[in-house]
Amino acid sequence: MTTRKPVKPDLARLDRVVADARRAREERERGYRARALKLFPWICGRCAREFDQGNVHELTVHHKDHDHDNNPPDGSNWELLCVYCHDNEHQRYVDGPRPLAGGDAPNAAVTHTPFAELAALLKNGK
Ligand SMILES: [Zn+2]
Ligand SMILES: [Zn+2]
Repeated sequence: MTTRKPVKPDLARLDRVVADARRAREERERGYRARALKLFPWICGRCAREFDQGNVHELTVHHKDHDHDNNPPDGSNWELLCVYCHDNEHQRYVDGPRPLAGGDAPNAAVTHTPFAELAALLKNGK
């Protein structure tokens, strides 16, 4: 009588390791996001858009020094930004003066006309 023990790679264990790592990261991210949402008013630091339970998922935590591992408990490295402003922050579209927290939405960027610069370039090129 032979008892055949199936010898297969311990995928379940591997899966658990991967799942653990992912869960740890998600928990850490959820952790600092939850803390940031408790610490700060639910307002985008850029466009001053206000958020509530219904749309707070569009409010994200930006790390001022871009280091996601730098999470001081006082929140000094965090800034709440809506997804759009967060995008801009990382793409560095906006290089002008920052609006003060709670201030009016910046409108300097709106008056910027790329075509005026293009026209000037074309003129200088001749
Ligand atoms: Zn915003
Ligand atoms: Zn960010």
